[in-house]
Amino acid sequence: MREVVVAANWKMHTTPADAGELARTIASRTRESGVTRVICPPYVCLAAVGAALADDDPDVAVGAQNVHHELAGAYTGEISAPMLAGLATWVIVGHSERRRDAGETDEQIGRKLERAMDADLRPILCVGEQLEERERGEASEVVDRQLRGAMAGHDPARTTGHGLVIAYEPVWAIGTGRNATGTDAAAMADAIRASLGGLGWADRADDVPVLYGGSVTSGNIGAFLGEPSIDGALVGGASLKPDEMAGIVARAGITARARGLAG
Ligand code: PEP
Repeated sequence: MREVVVAANWKMHTTPADAGELARTIASRTRESGVTRVICPPYVCLAAVGAALADDDPDVAVGAQNVHHELAGAYTGEISAPMLAGLATWVIVGHSERRRDAGETDEQIGRKLERAMDADLRPILCVGEQLEERERGEASEVVDRQLRGAMAGHDPARTTGHGLVIAYEPVWAIGTGRNATGTDAAAMADAIRASLGGLGWADRADDVPVLYGGSVTSGNIGAFLGEPSIDGALVGGASLKPDEMAGIVARAGITARARGLAG
């Protein structure tokens, strides 16, 4: 049975002074057996969040929101995978806000994946189409292209061994309050696994957790987690609100119990 994951992307919010307290509050409100919880604060808050969780709830993992595709060099302002040692055990790669704002390409995202795995970081690879692409009926073609660009050359056994998670995040749903339907998200999760199959992943494609991301709230999470193909959520705006996270993870706990994952 695939793992159930709820990952919080705090984006460019919180400071080292307040991030630990927020992480502690969220951790205490989301204790749910069988659900993997991950908090991804800004780089400068990783240490504070890690320290707060180590004392309070070491079951909550800490993730970075990005990692550079090179190991070291003249890349002002960037952070490499080895620099995250001791600060994070997960990392988001290919978020659409970075594709948009930093011009990240699928090829660079594929190299980020490699760097992440070399450093024993669990990657959350984000893929998703623009609104015009969905309206033209090209959503799964776009996602397939993103997957081929980022995943080509990655050994399926090594990649699943490093616990790859894929987040389907339609760009038009991120931060807009307009979410996909559960049915559309599930169809894309199936298409993602079919794309991995096309890349030679065969049965291993079924082992990869696929999350939905895009305006997830405690009110709509049930529509996604009611779908057997969807294994959790990557949550942005709502992940800064303890009440919302409590509701989202509680619903994830229902799925974890139904899958026999809860202890
Ligand atoms: C995200 O940042 O990955 C995200 C899905 O954001 P939001 O939940 O705010 O749409």
